[in-house]
Amino acid sequence: MKKRIMVDMSATLLHYGHIRLLMKASNYGTVVVGLTTDDEILSNKGYQPELNFDQRKEILESIKFVNHVVPVPWLINDSILDQHNIDLLIHGDDNSNLVDKKRLLILPRTKGVSSKEIRKKSSLITNDIKRNILLNPGPATTTNSVKMSQVVPDICPRESDFGKIMASVSEDLTSIVADNDSYSTVLFCGSGTAAVESILTSVIEKDRYVLIVNNGAYGKRMCEIASRYEINFIEYNSSATEPINISDLEKLLKNNNSISYLAVVHNETTTGLLNDLNQLGNLAKKYNLKLIVDAMFSFGAIPINMKKQNISYLCSSSNKNIQGMAGISYVIAEKKSFENLKNIKPLNYYLNLYEQYNYFKKNNQMRFTPPVQTIYSLKQAILELKQEGIRNRYSRYANSWIIFTDALKEMNLKYLVNDDYHSKLITSVIIPENINFDDMHDYFYEKGYTIYPSKIEDLNSFRVANIGEINSNDMLKFVTLLKEYFTNLNIFKYKKY
Ligand SMILES: *Cc1c(COP(=O)(O)O)cnc(C)c1O
Repeated sequence: MKKRIMVDMSATLLHYGHIRLLMKASNYGTVVVGLTTDDEILSNKGYQPELNFDQRKEILESIKFVNHVVPVPWLINDSILDQHNIDLLIHGDDNSNLVDKKRLLILPRTKGVSSKEIRKKSSLITNDIKRNILLNPGPATTTNSVKMSQVVPDICPRESDFGKIMASVSEDLTSIVADNDSYSTVLFCGSGTAAVESILTSVIEKDRYVLIVNNGAYGKRMCEIASRYEINFIEYNSSATEPINISDLEKLLKNNNSISYLAVVHNETTTGLLNDLNQLGNLAKKYNLKLIVDAMFSFGAIPINMKKQNISYLCSSSNKNIQGMAGISYVIAEKKSFENLKNIKPLNYYLNLYEQYNYFKKNNQMRFTPPVQTIYSLKQAILELKQEGIRNRYSRYANSWIIFTDALKEMNLKYLVNDDYHSKLITSVIIPENINFDDMHDYFYEKGYTIYPSKIEDLNSFRVANIGEINSNDMLKFVTLLKEYFTNLNIFKYKKY
């Protein structure tokens, strides 16, 4: 009489590895598949199988190497084998069934395939979210892997496992602009403005002044913050389109020895004007000032070296060139600078830099609830930045910028700021008076491209940021649409598309 062979499996996603195992088993006798029941899969693997027991049974029964299918629990033992009169259990080399050795035959698994891997891939595909091209100045377009990295088991952020994740994120961020031995990154739950506000309200002594360079909306915002908290500040107005006049700035510093801080935006997101950190750092050194830099729109794309450039406090956020989700901002400084803040009377509570630093140092935790899932996505985004490299990322961005500005030139549209001091990351385009930004926005939005209004008063203009997970092809498609829009303007104006 033929031997009765059992092959046990859950066959939730049947693949050629299963078929090969069944074929081999059929050489030993009559094949009885021990098929794991739905309840056992749920309790042992933690998911409801996509196909239920009867459906999986029906598929297996149609395979020529299979003679019978019987329900079995997750693990097979001798009494189950007895129950079905089985002579031999055949399993792949991941076997964990406890049966008499004489009744067990282990066969090698087919390499490179498993239901688990297939499930992971197909869930990525089925969850493939519509890809929008965000040309607004952040949050930027993200990769699917960054989006998906937010789907994690629930965890209490006070657990040390989560603390370790935050600590590694913090160290990775530091290493982008400084060394981890003497510098540290303090994380906050909040958009970029939270970090700017935290610095201004945590570091400036009561009797000292901060000189704030205002050459765009974000420099102006720093002045507004300082003014709201009644911090001593001097506003230095500089052209929104031309480099800062350093000798003029220097005159001001020479005549005022109550100034201890110089605050500046690295890449002014209003126009794409890139302020020269080397020059400003030298100036800060010469006048013994602490340089505060809002690097929101440069961090992760334009190389920065805090020590060499003499930057005392630098801040940025998770959702711009880092290509993570919105919700985290951070401040980077020397550890000893953070320690020294202990002596400054705080103006703030939630955003206090010293307390946030000190608490994290002691506990690997933020003082208050962190944005848990956003941290996971930031970790993934940093990994992807490391893989791409800052220089490559910048050249990918700059390629898109060249495509965009070449098209503007072709179309006779002017943009602000000379290429020599342009960041090549965001562009403010002047549009003819007869064009209505909102109409234009809606036209592109419907097609999956989001453009952004300008922040310059009295100038009909719009902004296009070329950061995030977009490539030259995306930009080429966008400029083709843009040309179409401008060529057929009259049609678009009178027809509702
Ligand atoms: C984005 C940005 C900020 C922060 O804006 P949020 O809306 O708070 O994220 C600050 N400064 C600059 C230069 C920016 O580009």
